[in-house]
Amino acid sequence: MKFEDLKLIPPILAAVKEKGYTEPTPIQEQSIPPILEGKDLLGCAQTGTGKTASFAIPTLQRLAKFKGQPGIKALIITPTRELAIQIDESFQDYGKGLGLKHAVIFGGVKQHAQVKVLHRGVDILVATPGRLLDLMNQGFVKLDQLQVFTLDEADRMLDMGFIHDVKKVIA
Ligand code: AMP
Repeated sequence: MKFEDLKLIPPILAAVKEKGYTEPTPIQEQSIPPILEGKDLLGCAQTGTGKTASFAIPTLQRLAKFKGQPGIKALIITPTRELAIQIDESFQDYGKGLGLKHAVIFGGVKQHAQVKVLHRGVDILVATPGRLLDLMNQGFVKLDQLQVFTLDEADRMLDMGFIHDVKKVIA
């Protein structure tokens, strides 16, 4: 299978080509079509198999039509700051040319810079659970425009005791 067979829009195909990918990995092949259709999906694959692109690419494509509209339209929760930064970079890479705004928030640092970015408007937010909930409680993060919600490394996140935070965000 080729990326072209997945009905991806030209800017995303160009971004994938620029990354040097020649074909989708198995999890990408299986996950991109149902996510594009707006279906719920539970995916399992080992690290290094292209899991991030398997949700980032269809998320970006679904959001392309909302460009310029206010509100957070995609939220990705992940257990660690390192993963959050990596995921945000993937959205940057695969979303080149789409003009969507993305941001990353995590704990362990002062919130001021993150709040400033949120005020400027964000389409795609990548977050660790604790800081997300904290900023939600303070009214800096509103999720009423959300279209796509992703729990990355859900098993690990729940093992790490984030279940209560995650449940609150879902509610
Ligand atoms: P991940 O499993 O998301 O951490 O991705 C592991 C690595 O695979 C990352 O460095 C990606 O840039 C790379 N990657 C993702 N999709 C593909 C693909 N279709 N072909 C080649 N490399 C890929």
